[in-house]
Amino acid sequence: MKNLAKLGSLALSLPLLFACSGEAPQSVSSAPIAIAIHGGAGTITPQNMTPEREAEFEAALTEATEAGYAVLAAGGSALDAVEAAIRLMEENPLFNAGKGAVYTYEGRHELDASVMRGDTLEAGAVAGVTNIRSPFIAAREVMEHSRHVMLSGAGADEFARERGLEMVSNTFFNSSHRYEQLQRALERLREQANAGEQIAQLSASTLTADPAGWEPAFNMGTVGAVALDANGDLAAGTSTGGMTAKRWGRIGDAPIIGAGTWADNDSCAVSATGHGEYFIRFHVAADICSRVKYQGLTIAEAGNTVIHDVLLPAGGTGGVIIVDRQGNISMPFNTPGMYRGAKSNRSELEIGIYQ
Ligand code: ASP
Repeated sequence: MKNLAKLGSLALSLPLLFACSGEAPQSVSSAPIAIAIHGGAGTITPQNMTPEREAEFEAALTEATEAGYAVLAAGGSALDAVEAAIRLMEENPLFNAGKGAVYTYEGRHELDASVMRGDTLEAGAVAGVTNIRSPFIAAREVMEHSRHVMLSGAGADEFARERGLEMVSNTFFNSSHRYEQLQRALERLREQANAGEQIAQLSASTLTADPAGWEPAFNMGTVGAVALDANGDLAAGTSTGGMTAKRWGRIGDAPIIGAGTWADNDSCAVSATGHGEYFIRFHVAADICSRVKYQGLTIAEAGNTVIHDVLLPAGGTGGVIIVDRQGNISMPFNTPGMYRGAKSNRSELEIGIYQ
């Protein structure tokens, strides 16, 4: 496994490195192109992974990164590259997005997704949708074919149906491993309730990636992608099933523009994964790009500051992927692992799972 250990703290500033050495790979075109993807963050360690599962994730991350990169290499848009990568992961039950999404407390699936383009700052999102095969495509449809930015619940499903998107039964998103996670989560909640605590008070605070409080695999697997195309445009997208055993129509950061997703050609593109409540409160994706825009920080500096110095002290766990208009990539996270992949025309494919 190629380990991206250094990518957590260092940007892939390879254009600079090549400029210094005077050597450039043959495939480098004049315009930078770059893509980064994530497949969720959390307590992902070699100890809770089998070699087979590791290989499955590595293959899935490689496939999604290469699919997005192929769009860029063919002159396609950052938006289409983001879509190509996210669609593959939404269809892959390994990830908590589309098929393979986590279950709600009631044993259903409620999906969130968003998209943003950096040239126009147009954005689209769906929240709590139950029958749209690709929440990401629905978010893009909202951006491109409605007057709105975010649609939710039954109305969003109806919009998607009217737009002719592929609709599926909610059971389409079922998977046995996520169902087992729900059963364990419910058991945990019952134990805590029996211990005299109120489930109502527990849900928000226990649905974390904290190994002491909540089984890490319960929430992991949100997917996202950020890209820079040859035209110099940035785009970002995120798609998720949210958190296992979520209730009361809980919505995370993934469909919140500025929290889970942000793209602005003046700064950077970001997609986030982690404990959504914290990413909403600290408007993580937009904050990173604001630091780049107004403080002149690099994406690595801004990303590391927000993920390690702002989010973590407040109790927020997770990570982000970031790309800028120079084709630099940074992927900071404050959890033991984050599924991730990156490729640019200045850097080889890199796939990483652990710190
Ligand atoms: N951020 C997602 C949410 O809170 C979950 C995740 O990324 O693992 O819904």
